[in-house]
Amino acid sequence: MMKNCDILLCDLDAFFASVELLDDPSLQGKPVLVGGNPEGRGVVSTCSYEARKFGVRSAMPMKKALALCPEAIVLKGRMSRYKEMSHRVRQLFDRYTPDIEIVSIDEAYLAVKKGRGLDIAEAIHVDVRKELGLPISVGVSVNKLLAKIACDQAKPNNVGNLWPWEIEEKLWPLPARVLPGIGPVTGSKLQSLGINTVRDLALYSKGPLIRLFGSHGEAIYHFAHGIDNRTIETEHEAKSISEETTFPEDIQDREIIYGVLVELAAGVGYRLRSVGITARTITLKLRFKDFRTVTRSITMSECVCQDSDIYRAARDLFDRHCVKPPWRLVGIQASGFEQGTQISLFSSGPEREKENILTATKDNLRKKYGSEVIFPGRRLKKKK
Ligand SMILES: [Mg+2]
Repeated sequence: MMKNCDILLCDLDAFFASVELLDDPSLQGKPVLVGGNPEGRGVVSTCSYEARKFGVRSAMPMKKALALCPEAIVLKGRMSRYKEMSHRVRQLFDRYTPDIEIVSIDEAYLAVKKGRGLDIAEAIHVDVRKELGLPISVGVSVNKLLAKIACDQAKPNNVGNLWPWEIEEKLWPLPARVLPGIGPVTGSKLQSLGINTVRDLALYSKGPLIRLFGSHGEAIYHFAHGIDNRTIETEHEAKSISEETTFPEDIQDREIIYGVLVELAAGVGYRLRSVGITARTITLKLRFKDFRTVTRSITMSECVCQDSDIYRAARDLFDRHCVKPPWRLVGIQASGFEQGTQISLFSSGPEREKENILTATKDNLRKKYGSEVIFPGRRLKKKK
């Protein structure tokens, strides 16, 4: 990747709802919600800007959304169509740079030649609208953090920029939660320290933040000063993606291992989906009390990227090869990558489609707040 560059964050506006509006123009100007069943415990995956006027937000329970906006049109979503449009947007990005990091189905970072950022952002904004009929917002700056905030501030359907010399004037007055990594949990902890705005955080001492939040505290402190050293990670450079957990004590209970596997599978699945790839091989890593470590793999006939499929494969490997406790470490690795998404390979029944929508919603939340808001039910149960 080029060293000296401008960074763009391109984020499609209300993406699922926008695709529905595009395919059915009679929905234009109406509040549209894409997401789960209002009868059950469904949540809003995406809502049109029309619906947002009523206070509806993504990840809100569908029931509550309909209470706020009873005339909303609820659609269950068509993941394969969204993937197709996402792919076409991606192809359009390729015209401008090879340095692309796909964040999720509707969001990507692009690195372009220094000084060209704004022109390219304008061009992308126009092209996506004209050629694909979709609204997109683009933020331009020198790093991911500032590009992301510029984009959020520009939304909807606009191009924005935020440069390092504008931080005190433009970034500091904003609420601290605009910074990545400050979700509801960290946000309320900061509030109890009297930190409400980005300025409050920037002017707080770094030491106490590190003591309270660890390396996370240091990261958000730097973010408040506009500093972000994360690089653009172009896809498919990695040969495998893995996550593992070392236990502070020996684990005897296999239910605990299952719970951890759920979380590891969610982490691996999220990373696969965020770069738009699937894996054919799942490997389980297991370390015993005596530090003997075994790895066991399964190569499947279908490539996977869904949390539940990764979990099932890993759990299966565990059940067959766990021998006997205690265990010290467990890990999941995905490899044998293929381009594309699981949906195109499986015959997609309504259940699978529902899972895809739910996963996309979770991915959006994880992207927004980090993993702190995503607790698989299993872990919640174990914590009691
Ligand atoms: Mg979006």
